Amino acid sequence: MDLAGLLAKKQGIICDMDGVIYHGNRLLPGVREFVDWIKKTGKSFLFLTNSSERTPRELREKLARMGLDVGPEHFYTSALATAAFLSSQHPGGTAYVIGGNGLVNALYDAGFAMNEVNPDYVVVGETHSYTYDTITQAINLVEKGARLIGTNPDLTGPGEHGLVPSTGAIISPIELATGRKAYFVGKPNPLMMRQGLKRLGCKREDAIIVGDRMDTDIVAGIESEIDTVLVLSGVTALEEISLFPYRPHFVLGGVADMPTGQTIDQIPRPESESGAKA
Ligand SMILES: [Mg+2]
Repeated sequence: MDLAGLLAKKQGIICDMDGVIYHGNRLLPGVREFVDWIKKTGKSFLFLTNSSERTPRELREKLARMGLDVGPEHFYTSALATAAFLSSQHPGGTAYVIGGNGLVNALYDAGFAMNEVNPDYVVVGETHSYTYDTITQAINLVEKGARLIGTNPDLTGPGEHGLVPSTGAIISPIELATGRKAYFVGKPNPLMMRQGLKRLGCKREDAIIVGDRMDTDIVAGIESEIDTVLVLSGVTALEEISLFPYRPHFVLGGVADMPTGQTIDQIPRPESESGAKA
Protein backbone atom coordinates (compact mmCIF):
# COMPACT_ATOMS: atom_id res chain seq x y z
CA MET A 1 0.00 0.00 0.00
CA ASP A 2 1.27 3.50 -0.73
CA LEU A 3 1.74 6.01 2.05
CA ALA A 4 -1.28 8.13 1.14
CA GLY A 5 -3.53 5.05 1.30
CA LEU A 6 -2.01 3.95 4.58
CA LEU A 7 -2.26 7.41 6.16
CA ALA A 8 -5.94 7.56 5.29
CA LYS A 9 -6.43 4.57 7.59
CA LYS A 10 -4.17 5.68 10.44
CA GLN A 11 -5.72 7.29 13.49
CA GLY A 12 -2.62 8.53 15.30
CA ILE A 13 0.74 10.07 14.44
CA ILE A 14 3.77 10.00 16.74
CA CYS A 15 6.22 12.61 15.55
CA ASP A 16 9.80 13.26 16.68
CA MET A 17 10.67 16.94 17.13
CA ASP A 18 14.30 17.94 16.49
CA GLY A 19 15.16 17.46 12.81
CA VAL A 20 11.52 16.76 11.98
CA ILE A 21 9.55 19.87 12.91
CA TYR A 22 12.41 22.24 13.82
CA HIS A 23 16.17 22.78 13.75
CA GLY A 24 17.37 24.83 16.72
CA ASN A 25 14.93 27.72 16.85
CA ARG A 26 13.78 27.45 13.24
CA LEU A 27 10.54 25.77 12.24
CA LEU A 28 11.06 23.56 9.18
CA PRO A 29 9.18 24.29 5.94
CA GLY A 30 5.66 22.89 5.71
CA VAL A 31 5.32 22.07 9.40
CA ARG A 32 2.40 24.43 9.97
CA GLU A 33 0.56 22.91 7.01
CA PHE A 34 1.41 19.41 8.31
CA VAL A 35 -0.17 20.18 11.70
CA ASP A 36 -3.20 21.80 10.02
CA TRP A 37 -3.59 18.67 7.88
CA ILE A 38 -3.48 16.39 10.96
CA LYS A 39 -6.12 18.50 12.70
CA LYS A 40 -8.30 18.66 9.59
CA THR A 41 -8.22 14.88 9.12
CA GLY A 42 -9.20 14.36 12.76
CA LYS A 43 -6.15 12.23 13.59
CA SER A 44 -4.63 12.35 17.04
CA PHE A 45 -0.95 13.29 17.32
CA LEU A 46 1.90 13.38 19.77
CA PHE A 47 5.20 15.20 19.51
CA LEU A 48 7.70 12.90 21.13
CA THR A 49 11.15 13.94 22.31
CA ASN A 50 14.01 12.18 24.05
CA SER A 51 14.86 15.42 25.80
CA SER A 52 13.71 15.39 29.42
CA GLU A 53 14.57 18.91 30.49
CA ARG A 54 11.38 20.75 29.58
CA THR A 55 7.79 20.27 30.69
CA PRO A 56 5.05 19.95 28.06
CA ARG A 57 4.07 23.55 28.89
CA GLU A 58 7.62 24.75 28.26
CA LEU A 59 7.72 22.83 24.96
CA ARG A 60 4.44 24.43 24.02
CA GLU A 61 5.97 27.87 24.65
CA LYS A 62 9.06 26.98 22.62
CA LEU A 63 6.89 26.07 19.61
CA ALA A 64 4.66 29.10 20.15
CA ARG A 65 7.78 31.32 19.88
CA MET A 66 8.36 29.75 16.45
CA GLY A 67 4.76 30.47 15.52
CA LEU A 68 3.21 27.01 15.99
CA ASP A 69 0.27 26.66 18.35
CA VAL A 70 0.06 23.17 19.88
CA GLY A 71 -1.49 22.35 23.27
CA PRO A 72 0.65 20.80 26.05
CA GLU A 73 -1.32 17.55 25.81
CA HIS A 74 0.38 16.89 22.47
CA PHE A 75 3.89 16.55 23.89
CA TYR A 76 5.46 13.42 25.28
CA THR A 77 9.00 13.52 26.70
CA SER A 78 11.40 10.87 27.98
CA ALA A 79 10.78 12.43 31.42
CA LEU A 80 7.07 11.53 31.22
CA ALA A 81 7.95 8.04 29.95
CA THR A 82 10.46 7.59 32.79
CA ALA A 83 7.91 8.71 35.39
CA ALA A 84 5.29 6.31 33.96
CA PHE A 85 7.82 3.47 33.96
CA LEU A 86 8.98 4.10 37.54
CA SER A 87 5.46 4.43 38.90
CA SER A 88 4.61 1.05 37.33
CA GLN A 89 7.74 -0.50 38.85
CA HIS A 90 7.46 1.08 42.26
CA PRO A 91 4.21 3.00 42.89
CA GLY A 92 4.72 5.85 45.34
CA GLY A 93 8.51 5.45 45.28
CA THR A 94 11.19 7.99 46.02
CA ALA A 95 13.92 9.50 43.88
CA TYR A 96 17.03 11.63 44.00
CA VAL A 97 16.93 13.63 40.77
CA ILE A 98 19.61 15.30 38.70
CA GLY A 99 17.53 16.88 35.96
CA GLY A 100 15.36 19.74 34.80
CA ASN A 101 11.80 20.88 35.55
CA GLY A 102 10.43 18.42 33.03
CA LEU A 103 11.77 15.46 34.99
CA VAL A 104 11.05 16.72 38.51
CA ASN A 105 7.46 17.69 37.63
CA ALA A 106 6.83 14.40 35.81
CA LEU A 107 7.97 12.39 38.84
CA TYR A 108 5.86 14.45 41.26
CA ASP A 109 2.84 14.05 38.98
CA ALA A 110 3.41 10.27 38.92
CA GLY A 111 3.27 10.16 42.72
CA PHE A 112 6.98 10.11 43.48
CA ALA A 113 8.55 11.97 46.39
CA MET A 114 12.04 13.48 46.38
CA ASN A 115 14.50 11.94 48.83
CA GLU A 116 18.17 12.79 49.30
CA VAL A 117 18.90 10.22 52.02
CA ASN A 118 17.74 6.75 50.97
CA PRO A 119 15.81 6.99 47.68
CA ASP A 120 14.60 3.98 45.68
CA TYR A 121 16.07 5.53 42.54
CA VAL A 122 18.68 7.97 41.34
CA VAL A 123 17.15 9.47 38.19
CA VAL A 124 19.25 11.51 35.77
CA GLY A 125 18.12 13.70 32.86
CA GLU A 126 19.31 16.79 31.04
CA THR A 127 20.07 19.77 33.21
CA HIS A 128 22.22 22.88 33.51
CA SER A 129 22.53 22.53 37.28
CA TYR A 130 25.07 19.75 37.52
CA THR A 131 27.77 19.96 40.16
CA TYR A 132 30.54 17.92 41.73
CA ASP A 133 28.40 17.69 44.88
CA THR A 134 25.27 16.38 43.15
CA ILE A 135 27.31 13.74 41.30
CA THR A 136 29.06 12.71 44.53
CA GLN A 137 25.73 12.39 46.27
CA ALA A 138 24.27 10.35 43.40
CA ILE A 139 27.29 7.99 43.48
CA ASN A 140 26.90 7.41 47.21
CA LEU A 141 23.15 6.80 46.94
CA VAL A 142 23.69 4.24 44.17
CA GLU A 143 26.40 2.61 46.31
CA LYS A 144 23.81 2.37 49.11
CA GLY A 145 21.39 0.55 46.80
CA ALA A 146 19.41 3.15 44.83
CA ARG A 147 18.71 1.99 41.25
CA LEU A 148 20.24 4.12 38.52
CA ILE A 149 17.86 5.36 35.80
CA GLY A 150 18.56 7.66 32.85
CA THR A 151 15.75 9.37 30.96
CA ASN A 152 17.50 8.96 27.59
CA PRO A 153 20.83 7.55 26.38
CA ASP A 154 21.79 10.46 24.09
CA LEU A 155 25.37 11.62 24.69
CA THR A 156 24.91 15.08 23.19
CA GLY A 157 22.15 17.41 22.14
CA PRO A 158 21.89 20.59 20.11
CA GLY A 159 22.75 23.78 22.04
CA GLU A 160 22.75 27.43 21.06
CA HIS A 161 26.53 27.51 20.53
CA GLY A 162 27.15 23.92 19.42
CA LEU A 163 26.80 20.60 21.22
CA VAL A 164 25.75 20.31 24.84
CA PRO A 165 26.18 17.17 26.98
CA SER A 166 22.99 15.12 27.21
CA THR A 167 21.86 12.53 29.77
CA GLY A 168 24.18 9.74 28.54
CA ALA A 169 27.21 11.97 29.14
CA ILE A 170 25.92 13.44 32.41
CA ILE A 171 25.22 10.01 33.92
CA SER A 172 28.47 8.34 32.84
CA PRO A 173 30.61 9.50 35.84
CA ILE A 174 28.02 7.88 38.13
CA GLU A 175 28.17 4.66 36.11
CA LEU A 176 31.97 4.66 36.06
CA ALA A 177 32.39 5.39 39.76
CA THR A 178 29.83 2.81 40.91
CA GLY A 179 30.39 0.13 38.27
CA ARG A 180 26.59 0.06 37.73
CA LYS A 181 24.93 0.46 34.36
CA ALA A 182 21.96 2.81 34.12
CA TYR A 183 18.64 1.74 32.59
CA PHE A 184 17.48 4.22 29.94
CA VAL A 185 13.78 4.67 29.19
CA GLY A 186 13.92 7.02 26.14
CA LYS A 187 14.38 6.01 22.51
CA PRO A 188 15.65 3.60 21.17
CA ASN A 189 13.93 1.75 24.05
CA PRO A 190 10.61 0.70 22.47
CA LEU A 191 9.03 1.30 25.88
CA MET A 192 8.97 5.00 25.03
CA MET A 193 6.92 4.31 21.87
CA ARG A 194 4.52 2.04 23.72
CA GLN A 195 4.02 4.66 26.43
CA GLY A 196 3.43 7.21 23.66
CA LEU A 197 0.79 4.97 22.08
CA LYS A 198 -0.97 4.71 25.42
CA ARG A 199 -0.92 8.49 25.79
CA LEU A 200 -2.27 8.79 22.24
CA GLY A 201 -5.03 6.28 23.02
CA CYS A 202 -4.17 4.38 19.86
CA LYS A 203 -3.40 0.77 18.94
CA ARG A 204 -0.03 0.14 17.30
CA GLU A 205 -1.68 -0.90 14.01
CA ASP A 206 -3.52 2.42 13.87
CA ALA A 207 -0.44 4.58 14.45
CA ILE A 208 2.56 5.72 12.44
CA ILE A 209 5.89 7.10 13.66
CA VAL A 210 7.74 9.95 11.95
CA GLY A 211 11.41 10.54 12.82
CA ASP A 212 14.79 11.59 11.43
CA ARG A 213 17.08 9.04 13.11
CA MET A 214 17.50 5.43 12.05
CA ASP A 215 19.12 4.38 15.34
CA THR A 216 16.41 5.83 17.63
CA ASP A 217 13.09 6.73 15.98
CA ILE A 218 13.03 4.06 13.30
CA VAL A 219 14.46 1.15 15.31
CA ALA A 220 12.14 1.91 18.25
CA GLY A 221 9.19 1.97 15.84
CA ILE A 222 10.21 -1.34 14.27
CA GLU A 223 10.68 -2.98 17.68
CA SER A 224 7.23 -1.78 18.75
CA GLU A 225 5.78 -3.01 15.43
CA ILE A 226 4.54 0.44 14.45
CA ASP A 227 4.83 1.63 10.82
CA THR A 228 7.67 4.12 10.39
CA VAL A 229 8.38 7.13 8.21
CA LEU A 230 11.95 8.43 7.96
CA VAL A 231 12.26 12.10 7.01
CA LEU A 232 15.51 13.41 5.48
CA SER A 233 15.17 16.89 7.05
CA GLY A 234 17.32 15.90 10.05
CA VAL A 235 20.47 13.86 10.69
CA THR A 236 20.04 10.98 8.21
CA ALA A 237 21.09 11.29 4.56
CA LEU A 238 19.46 9.15 1.87
CA GLU A 239 22.72 7.23 1.21
CA GLU A 240 23.01 6.25 4.89
CA ILE A 241 19.77 4.28 5.06
CA SER A 242 21.31 1.18 3.48
CA LEU A 243 24.06 1.10 6.13
CA PHE A 244 21.52 -0.09 8.71
CA PRO A 245 20.31 -3.69 8.98
CA TYR A 246 16.69 -2.52 9.07
CA ARG A 247 14.79 -0.05 6.96
CA PRO A 248 11.96 2.40 7.49
CA HIS A 249 8.61 1.59 5.90
CA PHE A 250 8.62 4.93 4.03
CA VAL A 251 11.14 7.69 3.30
CA LEU A 252 10.10 11.33 2.83
CA GLY A 253 11.97 14.58 2.22
CA GLY A 254 10.19 16.10 5.21
CA VAL A 255 6.84 16.29 6.96
CA ALA A 256 5.74 18.81 4.31
CA ASP A 257 5.18 15.74 2.10
CA MET A 258 2.96 13.91 4.60
CA PRO A 259 -0.36 15.38 3.41
CA THR A 260 0.28 14.17 -0.16
CA GLY A 261 2.15 11.01 0.85
CA GLN A 262 4.94 11.83 -1.64
CA THR A 263 7.67 9.29 -0.85
CA ILE A 264 11.26 8.79 -2.02
CA ASP A 265 11.33 5.29 -3.46
CA GLN A 266 14.90 4.94 -4.75
CA ILE A 267 17.19 4.30 -1.80
CA PRO A 268 20.80 4.23 -3.03
CA ARG A 269 23.17 1.56 -1.79
CA PRO A 270 26.46 2.53 -0.13
CA GLU A 271 29.43 3.26 -2.43
CA SER A 272 31.14 -0.09 -1.81
CA GLU A 273 28.16 -1.95 -3.25
CA SER A 274 27.72 0.31 -6.26
CA GLY A 275 28.74 -2.55 -8.59
CA ALA A 276 25.53 -4.32 -7.68
CA LYS A 277 23.41 -1.37 -8.75
CA ALA A 278 20.77 -2.27 -11.29
MG1 LIG B 1 15.16 13.91 15.82
